Amino acid sequence: MTPAVRTRVAIVGAGPAGLLLSHLLDAAGIPSIVIDQRSRDEIESTIRAGILEQGTVELLDTLGDASRVRTVGHRHDGIELRFAGEGHRIDFPSLVGRSVWLYPQHEVLKDLIAARLAAGQDLRFGVTAENVVDAETDRPRVIARDAEGQPFEIEAEFVVGSDGSRSVARAAVTGSSTGGYFDVRPLETYPERALRRIWKAQHFSWWMTSLLHVAPDATDFDRRRQLGELRGVVESRHGQAYLAEAYCGWPLTGG
Ligand SMILES: Cc1cc2nc3c(=O)[nH]c(=O)nc-3n(C[C@H](O)[C@H](O)[C@H](O)COP(=O)(O)OP(=O)(O)OC[C@H]3O[C@@H](n4cnc5c(N)ncnc54)[C@H](O)[C@@H]3O)c2cc1C
Repeated sequence: MTPAVRTRVAIVGAGPAGLLLSHLLDAAGIPSIVIDQRSRDEIESTIRAGILEQGTVELLDTLGDASRVRTVGHRHDGIELRFAGEGHRIDFPSLVGRSVWLYPQHEVLKDLIAARLAAGQDLRFGVTAENVVDAETDRPRVIARDAEGQPFEIEAEFVVGSDGSRSVARAAVTGSSTGGYFDVRPLETYPERALRRIWKAQHFSWWMTSLLHVAPDATDFDRRRQLGELRGVVESRHGQAYLAEAYCGWPLTGG
């Protein structure tokens, strides 16, 4: 018989989402097990994101001294858009009273991993989730292999798939490994609130990309229209404020 461990929340993936969730659950007195297929060293040395929104920094503050973002990270109070030979500063604090922080994702992960282990978190590296079964029931299970390749299962009340873009858990929840976005049970209103923010951020990312890059097949008309759009933003306090608000991040709650 396959050995099994029990917990209330099984979290697949020790990225920022999974680790921060285990921290928040612990603060609420809810135990969890976090597994990740990669080694601790690999997780802590993979270079990815570099900029943190203000809301994320405030969330990391709940780690106390374990978070080094305020001491080692750098607060950025604005950006400069340069086009047609001129620079235009977008000053975040004066526009929206917020900022962003330059603090690499792998440093955030170092902080989170150290804090979770210090708190006695059951955090397992080199452990791969192969499937999530019984997702429709109140006893979902993660079918996994440990660091030695031995099969085992995690029985939980909830399974959280924070296993990134090639998620194994996603297929079990949405029925597809590529389609479907979100399903949270039994928190009926949460998906709608979260999705609203996610799609706003998705649009902002697309908009900034189209605003700041010239497509290889851009026509003269396209370039002039793009310059018109840039001027529309920097010459309007409202345009600047939208950019600043989105760049620094909308509130994580509400909406
Ligand atoms: C080059 C680059 C630059 C970026 N820059 C920025 C930026 O400046 N600002 C920003 O906000 N975002 C940025 N991002 C995006 C950001 O890195 C991601 O949004 C973030 O990593 C997502 O976190 P996550 O915890 O959801 O997933 P991930 O960080 O992908 O973590 C998922 C974890 O799950 C584990 N896993 C996967 N499958 C399994 C399995 N079957 N079993 C067990 N474990 C599994 C993986 O090993 C991984 O550790 C960037 C991304 C990249 C690639």
